[in-house]
Amino acid sequence: QWGAMQDQLSSSVGENNYKTWIAPIDFDRIEADGVAVFSVPTNFFGTYVSQHYGDLLLAKLSLVAPEVSRLKFRLANTDTQQAQPRPAPAQSAQPDVLPSAPLDARFTFDRFVVGKPNELAHAAAKRVAEGGLVTFNPLFLYGGVGLGKTHLMHAIAHDLKTNRPDLNVLYLSAEQFMYRFVQALRERRMMDFKELFRSVDVLMVDDVQFIAGKDSTQEEFFHTFNALVDQNKQIIISADRAPDEIKDLENRIRSRLQSGLVVDLHPTDYELRLGILQSKVLTYREQYPSLQIDDGILEFLAHRISTNVRVLEGALTRLFAFASLVGQPITMELTQDCLADVLRASDRKISIEEIQRKVAEHYHIRLSDLIGPKRVRNFARPRQVAMYLCKQLTARSLPEIGRRFGGRDHTTVMHGVKRIEELRIKDSQIADDIELLRRALEA
Ligand code: ADP
Ligand code: MG
Repeated sequence: QWGAMQDQLSSSVGENNYKTWIAPIDFDRIEADGVAVFSVPTNFFGTYVSQHYGDLLLAKLSLVAPEVSRLKFRLANTDTQQAQPRPAPAQSAQPDVLPSAPLDARFTFDRFVVGKPNELAHAAAKRVAEGGLVTFNPLFLYGGVGLGKTHLMHAIAHDLKTNRPDLNVLYLSAEQFMYRFVQALRERRMMDFKELFRSVDVLMVDDVQFIAGKDSTQEEFFHTFNALVDQNKQIIISADRAPDEIKDLENRIRSRLQSGLVVDLHPTDYELRLGILQSKVLTYREQYPSLQIDDGILEFLAHRISTNVRVLEGALTRLFAFASLVGQPITMELTQDCLADVLRASDRKISIEEIQRKVAEHYHIRLSDLIGPKRVRNFARPRQVAMYLCKQLTARSLPEIGRRFGGRDHTTVMHGVKRIEELRIKDSQIADDIELLRRALEA
């Protein structure tokens, strides 16, 4: 049964979260007093899962095992009880203040790298975080998965705690909003629910697309929303798409959501990805003091990995962990080995032909000369540049690249790639050429 539930959980929390947090935990048993026990690899895991997915786990679990009222996490292979009982309101008294969902301490403005794609969203978030006059209400942040919506919301909450400790800030996901609502319904505590929400000064609801189509939750959300706006309380909403693209959302809610400031987080571009990687590497200095990573490898990753920052970070984390485990320096080979699956998945599908065509065009030579056998420098250098770009921008192996350059040997390709790597540093003309070509190819 845990197996079936895992599948459901995977679709509720998303594959990444599932892999990171749910897959490693194991269902253990249900104790007599309705406590479901899970074993977790570390204490931190237990805390995190219980804070982030406790409500969800409990809800799903109580569908198949109605007797379950609490969750407990304990370390696998030990009997130390890492108890994090999520109090079941049916049994214990509900606290008087609405607990905010926990904030990730790393999601601060300091750690948010600003670039073209997110500068507007960042500026708006910063403004709201000052806690001054309510100027745009609601602030509606939207953008694809892993572009920093949750990060920005947590950052606002962190800042407000310092700037305006007097304000009652409530951050929660739309999913949590819904579970609390359903729970209140079940326990006939709607009055309390309403009152608690309406005593909030700043309400942040993450991933609001989640409540689309859920009629009664939508209804309650709408009332809460209106009550707060009428009292001039700040509301911050995030979603994975614009208000008018959320299906099954009531029109009056949609127009309310649009009535404030709507800003989007665009997919990351190369510069932003590189910036994020560089700042991430700095945070690894302490953890892995002996590991170095070349700018070249960071550039490679920024080029090759998709726009989702979570995937990008995950790749870097894995790379450092892997290198330190096997005790090897981070080389290009190691990187490609260790991240083969990620690289394949986000392969930009730039073809060798495309590269050859663009390079020939750029150097004003014929394609046949670029690929052909002539060794004169006018052709040989562009050829090496093209090989280098093929190596960097496609997932093709050296032998395959060689084949596509008139049947050359893989050592020839390797030599060419090395040569360009050296020249890039010494020769700014070559460096510029490569940058230009790269941009043209990725556009
Ligand atoms: P979303 O909520 O939009 O799906 P998140 O806010 O959870 O995305 O971001 C995913 C991961 O990427 C988080 O670890 C976050 O810290 C990181 N991240 C996203 N954007 C940035 C950025 N501009 N600078 C630094 N880290 C970022
Ligand atoms: Mg999010």
